[in-house]
Amino acid sequence: MKKLIFPIITLFFVTMFFAPDTYALDLSRKKKQTERKLYITVTKKDRCPVCGMFVHPYQKWITQIQFKDSSHHSFDGMKCMCRLYIDPEKYDTTKIKQDIKLVLVRDYYTLKFIRHDKAFYVVGSDVFGPMGHELIPFSTEKNASTFLSDHNGLKILRFHEINAELLDKLDKAEKTVNLD
Ligand SMILES: [Zn+2]
Repeated sequence: MKKLIFPIITLFFVTMFFAPDTYALDLSRKKKQTERKLYITVTKKDRCPVCGMFVHPYQKWITQIQFKDSSHHSFDGMKCMCRLYIDPEKYDTTKIKQDIKLVLVRDYYTLKFIRHDKAFYVVGSDVFGPMGHELIPFSTEKNASTFLSDHNGLKILRFHEINAELLDKLDKAEKTVNLD
């Protein structure tokens, strides 16, 4: 028995020494898979709780807020989702901000769902969403700046910089957005 223990211990340390890279890769792959799995598919009956529109026809604009009690809301764009995120009770009297568990936004180029606080948002571009001017999410700053220059965007924002005042400006804007 003793004879076996030494090779087993050696094998364990050798594996630990060479394994971390594979392990890290595996972890990040798992994380991506989980985020994809976390998205709850929108049905044809789902309406945006903010504007009342059906969400299903606007697949590439879909955003989603999931709550700790396993319920969720899907939206037809960033602006509507941000409205509820900022003031949940206004649109769903059963919810407060602390009930929010997860917010997913969709990368405009790859269509992958990513967490809201990981995304870079282009504002003021010439690409319109179902509700007019939009905040357009990207998972990398590089893609956000490519989009910004291709589509006359004004700025790249992080989620914490989005507020009701900005949403009002986007709603009021006609042909172009004025952020001043
Ligand atoms: Zn909406």
